[in-house]
Amino acid sequence: MTKTYAVIGDPIAHSLSPLIHNTLYARYRLDCRYIPLQVKQQDVPEFFASTLGSRIAGCNVTMPNKAAVIPHLLDIHEDAALCRSVNTIAADGLKGWSTDAPGLRRAVEQAGFSYKGSTLLLYGAGGAASSIALDFARQGGAALYVCNRTAEKAHALVGFVRENSAIPMAGAICDADLPTVLPGCDLFFNTTPLGMSHTGLEFASLDFLGSLPPHALVCDLIYNPFETKLLARAKALGLATLNGLPMLIHQAFLSFEKWFGILPDEADYAAIWQALTSALGV
Ligand code: NAP
Repeated sequence: MTKTYAVIGDPIAHSLSPLIHNTLYARYRLDCRYIPLQVKQQDVPEFFASTLGSRIAGCNVTMPNKAAVIPHLLDIHEDAALCRSVNTIAADGLKGWSTDAPGLRRAVEQAGFSYKGSTLLLYGAGGAASSIALDFARQGGAALYVCNRTAEKAHALVGFVRENSAIPMAGAICDADLPTVLPGCDLFFNTTPLGMSHTGLEFASLDFLGSLPPHALVCDLIYNPFETKLLARAKALGLATLNGLPMLIHQAFLSFEKWFGILPDEADYAAIWQALTSALGV
C-alpha cells in the first residue's frame, strides 16, 4: 500500500518539499507519496490524534508548528529539544529531529567552507538562527557573533549557546559594530526576512559587506528571490555566496535519511536542483 508523507504548516501551498520528496520517491522507486497539508497551530493536537500514524507515516514541519509539535512526541533529538524546533517526524515511535541546521552545514561544506575553527556573524536571532548557532558552536566553530534588531534576543541566544556548547567565544553585537567585527569573520549568514520577495523588507545599507575579508562566504537563507540584493552585492565584491536552496535540499535529504535509511547522493542533488530551479523559473 502506498505510504503517505507530508509537510504540515500554514500557509503550505507554495512549499517546495513535495517536489523534492516526490522526485526522490521516483528515483528510489519507493511506493510513497508526499503531500502538503495545511495544519494551523491550533489544529496540531488533532493532527496527532487522528492523522499521524493512521494516514501519514511521517512528516516535515514548517512555520508556525515547529515548536507546537514537541509536546506530542516521545523521542526528540537533543539539539531539536534544546532549540524547541522540530522539522522532521516519524510516526513510528513518535520521533522528532531538526534537520535545518545540519542541512545548512552540509550546504556550507558543499560550497567548500567548514565550521571548524571559523568565525561566524549570524544576522538575526530567531528560530532558524538558534538551531544554526548551536550547531555551529557544537561542530567546532571558533567564534560566534549574533547581530539582531532586538538586542535582548541576540544576548539571549549568545547565553543559550554558551550554556550548551564549549565555543571559545560568543558575543552579541549591533549594526554599528559590523565594520569592526566583520574583518575577522569567515562566514556571514542572513537569517532574517530582509531581502525576501513580497515583504518589501531590505537591509538599510549593504556597505558593511565591504568589511568582510576576501575569502569570506556570504549565505542568505532566502531563495526567493534566487539572488537577494545581499548576495548580488557580495558577489560583486568577489565574495563567495550561497542562497537558501542548497540548505532546503540538504534538510530534505536528511529527513529522507531519517525515514528510509538512505542518504541521497550527488546525482540526486543535481536532479533535485534542476527540478527546483525549473519550478522557480530560474
Ligand atoms: P523567526 O523566528 O521569525 O526570526 C526572524 C528573525 O528576523 C528575527 O531575528 C527578527 O528579529 C528578524 N527580523 C524580522 N523582521 C526584521 C526586520 N524588518 N528587520 C530586521 N530584522 C528582522 O524566523 P525563522 O524561522 O528563524 O526564519 C528566518 C528565515 O530563515 C526566514 O526567512 C525563513 O524563510 C528562512 N529559512 C530558510 C530555510 C531554508 O531551508 N532555506 C529553513 C528555515 C528558515 P527580532 O528578534 O528583532 O524580531
